[in-house]
Amino acid sequence: MGAHVHVRLIQSLGVTEDGELIEYSSCAECGATWVKKYPEGQVQAPD
Ligand SMILES: [Zn+2]
Repeated sequence: MGAHVHVRLIQSLGVTEDGELIEYSSCAECGATWVKKYPEGQVQAPD
């Protein structure tokens, strides 16, 4: 497998009981999936 820059596709968004934003994403190239949390007030723009 060659390394590549993941092409992140946001699948869905959720919010935890603590008010954190959760972003469920997957890669359009390899299908890898991951979850990213954004503490409240620290939402960052995607790359
Ligand atoms: Zn990938």
